[in-house]
Amino acid sequence: MSPTARRPVIALDGPAGAGKSTVARRVAAALGYVLVDTGALYRAVALACARAGVSWDDPDGVGAQAEALVARGAIALVPAPDGLRVELDRADVTREIRSPENSLGASRVSAVPRVRAALLEMQRASLRGGGAVMEGRDIGTVVAPDAEVKLFVTASPEVRARRRHDELVARGERPSYEDTLRDVLARDRADESRAIAPLVPAADAEVLDTSSMSLDEVVDAIVARARAAGG
Ligand code: C5P
Repeated sequence: MSPTARRPVIALDGPAGAGKSTVARRVAAALGYVLVDTGALYRAVALACARAGVSWDDPDGVGAQAEALVARGAIALVPAPDGLRVELDRADVTREIRSPENSLGASRVSAVPRVRAALLEMQRASLRGGGAVMEGRDIGTVVAPDAEVKLFVTASPEVRARRRHDELVARGERPSYEDTLRDVLARDRADESRAIAPLVPAADAEVLDTSSMSLDEVVDAIVARARAAGG
């Protein structure tokens, strides 16, 4: 690689609970790349709306909130030893944005075009230097269509619900597996059927079904793609 060549951008898309976040964190650490969790941005918007008393079902209200948050630089993803710390107006909201209720809020606000438009430029700006792992739903299709490595990371709904459930339990929450599966399926439906930036693999993305792969196998496969792309 010449010294001036841009290091690759790795776009990781896929449904809720496919293990993308853990994979993205591990891949970014292995390659020394910046990690960008775009779901955290939608989650932060949902939380800010709830705090401001703006209904997630009020498109004008959430649109205005998102624009104001971006304009004043209120949402920040800060590198931390175990991944990313998510800040809203400089306060740590890393845990709070991941509650089951706020997850549904994130899904709602993410269907609002003004919210997506407000977050788009912020996401693109974080890719300018290359050498980034960005995870989300529309990275390969909308945010970074020219990413050097594009993967659609998925697994069966049951495997995804099991992984999500294990994660929530590890965090001290006690949801039932059935509720977790229902949430996963509800979010899939909402993400796949929305009019704007629906969850679909980019035409040129490689689909990686991780149902029967170990975490290490998934990480190694993606690091290998990045290396092949000059990373
Ligand atoms: O990835 P995560 O589960 O944290 O994302 C939270 C929600 O944000 C998802 O349900 C999805 O609706 C939305 N999202 C999105 N586009 C992205 C990332 C997340 O619409 N690029």
